[in-house]
Order: sequence, then structure tokens, then C-alpha cells
Amino acid sequence: MSAKRTDKIRSFLADGEGVIISGFPNIFYYSGFTSEDAFLVITKDRQILATDFRYIVQAKKESPDFEIYDVAKGVDKLFSGIREDVFGFEENVMTVSEFAKFQHYTKKLVPMSQKLSMPRRLKDSYEIEKIAKAEELAKEALSHTLSSIKVGVSEREVAREIEFYMLKNGAKKTSFETIVASGVRSCMPHGVASDKIIEAGDFVTIDFGCVLDGYCSDMTRTFVVSKATDRQREIYETVLNAQLTAISAIEVGKSCAEIDKAARDIIEKAGYGKNFGHSLGHSVGIEIHESPDFSPKSADKLESGNVITVEPGIYIDGFGGVRIEDVVVIGEKTQNLTNFTKELMII
Ligand code: ZN
Ligand code: ZN
Repeated sequence: MSAKRTDKIRSFLADGEGVIISGFPNIFYYSGFTSEDAFLVITKDRQILATDFRYIVQAKKESPDFEIYDVAKGVDKLFSGIREDVFGFEENVMTVSEFAKFQHYTKKLVPMSQKLSMPRRLKDSYEIEKIAKAEELAKEALSHTLSSIKVGVSEREVAREIEFYMLKNGAKKTSFETIVASGVRSCMPHGVASDKIIEAGDFVTIDFGCVLDGYCSDMTRTFVVSKATDRQREIYETVLNAQLTAISAIEVGKSCAEIDKAARDIIEKAGYGKNFGHSLGHSVGIEIHESPDFSPKSADKLESGNVITVEPGIYIDGFGGVRIEDVVVIGEKTQNLTNFTKELMII
């Protein structure tokens, strides 16, 4: 797996060029190593994982295709043993002090974040399976927690119950801070769970996910507690219609902006255009926010192997909001990984 992945780097390396990878997502992607305290050096004919004594045994096990280098032997010695002297690096993650250190050991450092992350846009079947499993666990956690979402319970209690279920069942951590936003708080797209007590008539928006085997899940559902008003139903149906329309518009080769527009048009026509202020979706993988995005500004085209969220919303200050989010796999046939009902549930 990793040998194949590092070949993707070799395909764009010039003679005399190598790369230094120091950010966790790409370390994990290219080597399979699951700790952050490491960096990779990859050239045409070598691939080295440098870490310290705490992780040597783990590195040998997790990254059998890499030469494991103990940094205690000196980073200067590592580089003096490599004939390349120009190195690509991840300018979006490398700290200034790390940059200064690596500059000392090399002739030239070239920014290469985008190129190095590019292969991660196209998930292979192994990765899709991992994301599907993470999404499945999130879905189970929500099913398990549904009976606890009721009048008198705080948003925080609901969030902790969902999280505990995911962690107890294999998740390493949540993929981002769990959002449970009820009543007027649901007008905040990123209202993380607070001490607010859930009341009758509240919209409750729950947006959450976990990291399982290194891959993220992400899903959102909005419920109404006790009894829904006509306006709540109208807003919910509009968001649902936008979401379903966008999903059915998805096709390999179409532009990401076009899919965003499919959802946005429906929300605009219903009179809520200004209440949908974020992009339609983002890719998910080793990180919770990856590329490409479904956004009005995106210049990307959909490719087979993209795994992207579709998450339209309507947010009305002083009233509340609705968001519905699924994760879909782009391919010959669009595959929805979030098999959880989208009918308005009154709980
Ligand atoms: Zn989400
Ligand atoms: Zn999302």
C-alpha cells in the first residue's frame, strides 16, 4: 500500500529532488505510521521514516516499507547520507523553526503542500471502506442516543453520550468538536454543545463524527422535539429537497460549483438564499476538511474516488436552523455512506 503511494510522489520528482513530509496526515497517508512525532524523507530510490526511540518498534511494525532512522543519531547524518539536496516540504504545516533546521541540512527547500496532498483527493477502495466504517459507527451512535434527546436534557449531555458510544466502540477520537445546537442556538452552523437545556418545540441539530482506523466520519441530522410548527416543516423540507437534488445532480466530470448551485438554487427560490451562508460540502478522509469542496468558487471537477459531504442548511437568527449532511462517494454510481433516515423526526 505505502510503496504504491510513495510512487505517486516519485512520479513528479525531478532529478536530484526529494521531499520532506512533516505533517501527520501525509505521514500517515504515505507510511501508515500513526504517531505525529516523525518526519519522512522520500527520494527516487529511498524512503526513510525518522523518529525517536519511543516509536522505533512501532515504526518498524507500521511502516515495514520504510528505513527507520533514530533521530538520536543526528538529522545531519541522515541528510549527509542522501545524494539529493533539493527537497519539497509542506509549507502549510512546517513550523518556522523546523524550516530553519531543514534549511541547514539541504541546499534548497521548495513548497510542495498541494502536490503532496493531491493524491489524497482520490480515495482507494481501502480508504472508502474505512470512511464507510467510521460513518457507520457515527450512525449507530446517533441511533443509540436518540431516546436521550428529550425535553430537560442539556445539549452537552447528548453530545457526551454520542461521543462515549463512538469511543467505546473503537473510535480514537471525535473527528471535530461535536455540535448539538437546539432552539435558537440551531441558527449557529457551528454551535458546539452547550449547557442549554432542550425544550419542547426546539430544532436540535447534531453534527458529529469520529476517527476510526485513521479515517474521519461526518454527519448531521436535525430533529424537532415534541411538536413541529408549519414553518419548521417548511424549512426542513426545503433543506431536504436541496440536499436530495444536489446528490442526484452528482456525476463524474461535473464541476463542484455546479453541484453547490443545484442545492443553492432551491434554497434561494424558497426565499432563504441569505440564510445559507456556507459551502455545500467538503471532502473527508484522513482529515475532516479535505479537497475538493462543493462551493460556488470551486474550480474543481468531480472525479471517481472523491468522498464529499453534501450539507445544505438554512439558519434564521432568533428562530433556529436546519442542516442535513451525508457523506457520498463519487463514482460511476454515487454511493451514499450515511444511511440514516432524513424524514423529519419529531422526537
Ligand atoms: Zn458535519
Ligand atoms: Zn461537514
